[in-house]
Formats: sequence, C-alpha cells, structure tokens
Amino acid sequence: MQGQELGAVGRGLGLLADTWTLLILQRALLGVTRYAEWRETLNISDATLSARLRSLVEAGLLETRPYREGGRERRGYALTEQGADTWKLLLSTWHWEKTWVPREVPLPDIVHRACDLPAGVVLRCDECGAQVGPSDTTVWRAPGGSGVDVLTRLHPRRTRGRLPADPLSILPGAMEIVGDRWGATVLGAALAGMRSFSTFADELAISPEVLSDRLRRFVELGVLVRTGDAGYRLTDRGRASFPIHACLVDWSHRWLGGDGASADLEILHAGHRLRVRLDCDRCERSFTRASVSPVQPR
Ligand SMILES: [Zn+2]
Ligand SMILES: [Zn+2]
Repeated sequence: MQGQELGAVGRGLGLLADTWTLLILQRALLGVTRYAEWRETLNISDATLSARLRSLVEAGLLETRPYREGGRERRGYALTEQGADTWKLLLSTWHWEKTWVPREVPLPDIVHRACDLPAGVVLRCDECGAQVGPSDTTVWRAPGGSGVDVLTRLHPRRTRGRLPADPLSILPGAMEIVGDRWGATVLGAALAGMRSFSTFADELAISPEVLSDRLRRFVELGVLVRTGDAGYRLTDRGRASFPIHACLVDWSHRWLGGDGASADLEILHAGHRLRVRLDCDRCERSFTRASVSPVQPR
C-alpha cells in the first residue's frame, strides 16, 4: 500500500469500511478472542477470516495472544486500544440499523449501564457539547481527491449477499452503507452536500460503473432519492447515518492521522474539528465503551 499517498480518512475507509472487518471487530468488542469463535458465529470462510485477522493485526487493531488448549499452544487475539476505540463506530452502526431498517426479528437492544435502560444514541460535538447533524457541519476535502482509488487493492471482493446467521451480527442495512469503502465514500460525500452524478464522479475519482451501482443501491435502500434535475438528495434515513460517518472520520484522525498521513478530509463544527461524543438519549450521560451492554444472543 502506498501509505504516504493516502490521507488519514482514506486509510480509515480502507481499513474499516469492510463488512467482515466490522463484524470481526464487533464480535471482538463482545469478548471473542479465538479464531474458532469468529468462525462459528460469523459463518465466515477460513480464507476470509485469516486475511481479515492478519490485516487487523498488521494495522494494530488486534494483537496476538498465545493460549494453551489441549496441551498445544494456540494463537488468540486481543483488541488493542486502537481496535477497542472502534466501539463508537459500531455503536452508531447498530443504532442506525435498529432505528431505520425494518426487520421481522428486532435487533437486540443496547442497554446503557449507567441508567440501565435500552438506549438510543445522540451524537454530540465533544469540543462544545452541541448536538450535531450533517446540516450543522461542513466538510473540508483536500483538493484533487483523497487518493481513495489506491484502496481498490485491499480486499477487492465485496461481501454482499453472504451474511452470518447470528442475530447479533446481522446488520444488513448498515453494512450496505458502511461495509464497503466505495459505498461509504459516496454516502460520506452525499452527507457533505454532493448531489449530482458528475460531481460525485469528478470529486471522488470513482469509476462511473461503481458510482452508478452504489447510487442505485442507496436509492433502493431509501437512503437517497432522485431529484428532478438528475441529482440525488438524502432522505431522513440517509441523514441519520451521519454519526456512522462522523465516527469513522474521527477514529481515522485519532489513530491514523500521524505517521505522514496527509490531511484529506475533515468534518468541521463551528470552526473546530468535530470530535465525536455519543450520549444516551434516555439519561443524557455519555456512553463509554464499558457502559455499552448489548443484549447477548441466547
Ligand atoms: Zn462543536
Ligand atoms: Zn443512559
């Protein structure tokens, strides 16, 4: 990977906007540490699981932890601080799916341990405390695109249509919007105010075929609607995905912003960079990683 050509957010998208990676991290946040547990709960192939675990170790989100079983030494995995810090992204993703994607079997609740209530998530700016959405923020983009095309070499295959059987892991709507780097890039651009096909195509250095496919999927999902002037407009469901995007950008700056990464994209609120805070919509206190308690599957 030509890391020096890629900004922090481009790197973050390349790393995290991938369905299997997100599901592996989600399970790790719920306590999974062993290869066989991921394999069983996610119904994932050996090749895919091995590749994703290797990438996550290389990127510093997981570290290997040997353990003994049946007299043999085996390799387990533990989240690093950087990996564990993806909890906000995954909590936002869960909340969006639960709120906006109709399903026959409801997604389990998130319980906020501080108030012990099933809770929703409110995105606030950690700098000034204001509740923020896409219309309260502006997006600064580096001129000349983000070099996101470099990303096509990482995990080129999409995973649409192959979903794990575990009810805790099925986030099909959210994975359409954040589980694929091109989809996440297009939706992020829409949240930043892009509307026309030609603007998306020019600004994102994305192939017209891929762009058409993602825009069509977002219209099918009710995230975008077509407008009369051959453009696209976000629906309420689309705008509500803003916290997912904001968490991904925030995480990228936090963890990938040093080390020669160029500045490629920033979300600004009232003149400062948006640092995300997720508050409980029931008790108004902030979530912490330890205060998030998903209802476990039986
Ligand atoms: Zn602010
Ligand atoms: Zn609460």
